[in-house]
Amino acid sequence: MALEDARTQVDLAFTARDRRGLAYENAFGGATSFLRRRYTKDLAGVDLAVTGVPFDQAVTHRPGTRFGPRAIREASALQPFDPPYGWGFSPLEEFDIVDCGDLAFDYARVAAFPDRLTAHVAGILAAGPAVVTLGGDHYITFPILRAHAEKYGPLALIQFDAHSDLWPDDDPARIDHGTMSYKAVKAGLVDPAASVQIGIRTECPDYLGVSVIDAPEVHRTGPEAVAAKVRAIVGERPCYVSFDIDCLDPAFAPGTGTPVWGGLASWQAAAILRALAGLRVVGGDVVEVSPPYDTTGATAIAGAHVAHELICLCLWPRRGR
Ligand code: MN
Ligand code: MN
Repeated sequence: MALEDARTQVDLAFTARDRRGLAYENAFGGATSFLRRRYTKDLAGVDLAVTGVPFDQAVTHRPGTRFGPRAIREASALQPFDPPYGWGFSPLEEFDIVDCGDLAFDYARVAAFPDRLTAHVAGILAAGPAVVTLGGDHYITFPILRAHAEKYGPLALIQFDAHSDLWPDDDPARIDHGTMSYKAVKAGLVDPAASVQIGIRTECPDYLGVSVIDAPEVHRTGPEAVAAKVRAIVGERPCYVSFDIDCLDPAFAPGTGTPVWGGLASWQAAAILRALAGLRVVGGDVVEVSPPYDTTGATAIAGAHVAHELICLCLWPRRGR
């Protein structure tokens, strides 16, 4: 499609005839699916599905991430005019990617939420596509990991975060974004020896065998050294990338519930993510984007870029197949 045709394109989320292709719809108008992908529940032949989980009832401090998926979709509207910079391939043109919408759940039945989310993701995975999820608070990663572990076995978890989310919590009824990783390790969804957390800058009593590359180490050694260390830890295992936006410094991502200073710059996160290309990434999420605290929209923009990078990581091994 020529750029001139862009003036006649609107609501590609619902009007696109092809699931593939860049999108020249005016970035400031129209329906906002992620990267202007087709909104559909039809997953036949789809390589990757994006879904939103607007849930924020597990936070320790400030809520608001229920508005995250919508804000990330809107922020993504500026991206599908070009292939993602620096990757050397064009996932939007080479793969069938769709936005299959948000998880439907009863906000007043919080106890039923985890199983509902696991079933939602398992249903997508069973249909074939990989899944990239827009959160939502970080609790959502636990039910999502359960669905992935059912398909792939115990996963290598690559977690970008200011917090380990490994606080002890042996009560299965608790739904807490600060204990998500603890539960994932204890449930055997994650292999701690193959897992790593990047950007940590809060204390944790016990990392349960998960490797840690804290924020000062990222600043001291640089993205290439960090990525090399991650690759050595993960190896050939199927891995899941969970990106808590508070891994970034509040200067780059102020719109989040539990900000901590001393974090990664967005360029560091971008460089690390791109240097992970080739790992067997089977899925990922970006969580903790909280639009009510995101006065400039910078956090949603960062979240949209992270999700786009996650799509590249998931599809990179499938190029040329
Ligand atoms: Mn977290
Ligand atoms: Mn965090």
